[in-house]
Amino acid sequence: MVSILEYILIFFAWTFILYWMHRICHHVPYLKQIHWHHHKFVTGQQPKWMWQNIFLYSDDWMSTLDIIVTEIIPTIIFCYFTGHWWVFVWYYIWTAFIQEWFEHNPNFNVWPFSAGKYHLNHHKNWRHNFSLFFPIWDIVFGTHEPVNSN
Ligand SMILES: [Zn+2]
Ligand SMILES: [Zn+2]
Repeated sequence: MVSILEYILIFFAWTFILYWMHRICHHVPYLKQIHWHHHKFVTGQQPKWMWQNIFLYSDDWMSTLDIIVTEIIPTIIFCYFTGHWWVFVWYYIWTAFIQEWFEHNPNFNVWPFSAGKYHLNHHKNWRHNFSLFFPIWDIVFGTHEPVNSN
């Protein structure tokens, strides 16, 4: 029987993978080029939800390639090896329906979530704030940059 603790551990193990995948994408040359499209796209504008998001299309084709490489493939591999496919279901719901409202929303600044201002700090200074959902792995690995209140 799966306990609630196991779900929590699986969730954070998954975000650990995504955290490192994101960090790696800022250093490995070819991956860096792909990931840079996400950074370029978001500068100065907040992406809006669009119906293509339900097919996991994100902002433009290169940004979509970015989430395929940095999030979708690692998530599928993670689910395959752990057998916890609910993680992919959650990832799908997040990416298809929720992400665009929060992730780059300059008005969203709610502790302990790493969306909104916290993630926008990563767009300004890509040496910090790689975490998805919660800042735990930034804190653990020393890349945490708290959001200024002003
Ligand atoms: Zn972003
Ligand atoms: Zn990044």
